[in-house]
Amino acid sequence: MADDTTVDPVEGQVLDGNAVGGLLATAFGAEMTEVPGECAHCGTVSMVGELRAYVRAPGTVLRCPACSGVVLRVVETPNATLIDVRGAAYLRFERR
Ligand SMILES: [Zn+2]
Repeated sequence: MADDTTVDPVEGQVLDGNAVGGLLATAFGAEMTEVPGECAHCGTVSMVGELRAYVRAPGTVLRCPACSGVVLRVVETPNATLIDVRGAAYLRFERR
């Protein structure tokens, strides 16, 4: 596990999940930045907007701010958006 206080030279500057809010809203069909999700690695519950976003990796990688584990990965192809959610134990969508 990489030291979570440094900028990863491979993945580039660290943003937060709000930086990719539009991408996520399009993919999920819902505003995502205030959706809580539990990290499958350490159990920390964070809003999607609080996750650390690495947008210069292949696709977009959202990591847990507590343990740096990958929670969500988003890859856009010409015809589809692929979302890898293996790192999320759950995402909680409130019914309105
Ligand atoms: Zn975690």
